[in-house]
Amino acid sequence: MMKAAVVEQFGQPLVLREWAIPTPGPGQILVKTEACGVCHTDLHAARGDWPLKPTPPFIPGHEGIGIVVAVGSGVTSVKEGERVGVPWLFSACGHCEHCLAAWETVCDKAEFGGYTQNGGFAEYILADPNYVAHIPEGLSAVEAAPIICAGVTTYKGIKETGAKPGEWIAISGIGGLGHLAVQYAKAMGLRVCAIDIDNGKLAHATKLGADLVINAKVGDPIGQLRKETGGGAHGVLITAPSLIAFNQGVAMTRKRGTCVLVGLPPGEFPTPLFDVVAKCITIRGSFVGNRQDMHEALSFAAQGKVKADIELQPLSAINEVLERLERGEVASRVVIDFTAK
Ligand code: NAD
Ligand code: ZN
Ligand code: ZN
Repeated sequence: MMKAAVVEQFGQPLVLREWAIPTPGPGQILVKTEACGVCHTDLHAARGDWPLKPTPPFIPGHEGIGIVVAVGSGVTSVKEGERVGVPWLFSACGHCEHCLAAWETVCDKAEFGGYTQNGGFAEYILADPNYVAHIPEGLSAVEAAPIICAGVTTYKGIKETGAKPGEWIAISGIGGLGHLAVQYAKAMGLRVCAIDIDNGKLAHATKLGADLVINAKVGDPIGQLRKETGGGAHGVLITAPSLIAFNQGVAMTRKRGTCVLVGLPPGEFPTPLFDVVAKCITIRGSFVGNRQDMHEALSFAAQGKVKADIELQPLSAINEVLERLERGEVASRVVIDFTAK
């Protein structure tokens, strides 16, 4: 048996309990967890926030990093002893139009780690070797954990804005995703405006290299951004789990710019049609990243260009961590450390 934190009922605390260690079948591997980041998505999962719901009981966690300890028959791409990550994109069909176009993230048959498949809030994780992240040498399990969701999602989201070096990107929400987004954007040569409702997060963004910070709850944040960027940001990346941030983000987008939606609060937001049409603005969704994006996002981290700010906690603290995340009281990213006893 292994220890796991389990969603047994939506909206209830996770239950810390024993769970049978899975056995890898043909084409599967077993990973012994060293670390797993706690993403705001785990909170949405535990509350059953989204239209597509997982089925309790399930084990959340999609930033799990560990060592391959067993391989099923037919597995050739991964060996025992290698360090891998088990990401949100747990598996996909590999054959549909989206998979063939390297858009496996939108495959109809995709399975999601810690959601439709059990994830990393457990001592062992069953994984599909074709979709695991390969952790580069020189990156510890703890350092790699936030990169395999928060990192790849923001790296891909920044690329999807189409903003070019020297242009402005506005990043709304400077939490787990956003504090990495600031670093990726700087490494990619962009001018960064960080937006949050918490001055501590904004001070942190300045330390990470943000050129401009705006508190979304103070004064006229849209007017301020338009003035300081000379007409709006070329790219906007919204990671905030708050609907108001989406309205603001669209209004902060420059003419012909692109506003990329990444945060996933439940609900809808109104689109100001005249502005979007007359300014030729693109509003685009973005969902984690494909396996090449994952490789690139990890490589930035391995080169030291991007470094997650991490608070370590044991698995037994998971419910306090989720409550703090809900209240916006996690500075950047909590990573569950499975090597701590
Ligand atoms: P987090 O809780 O660590 O960070 C959220 C940040 O947003 C906090 O700093 C908070 O202060 C800030 N915020 C809250 N309201 C705001 C507002 N009105 N304006 C500006 N900032 C505001 O969360 P996280 O782990 O970074 O995840 C953020 C969101 O992204 C979640 O909804 C999560 O489900 C989603 N997500 C999406 C993908 C994807 O592939 N699209 C991947 C991972 C996470
Ligand atoms: Zn995530
Ligand atoms: Zn497919």
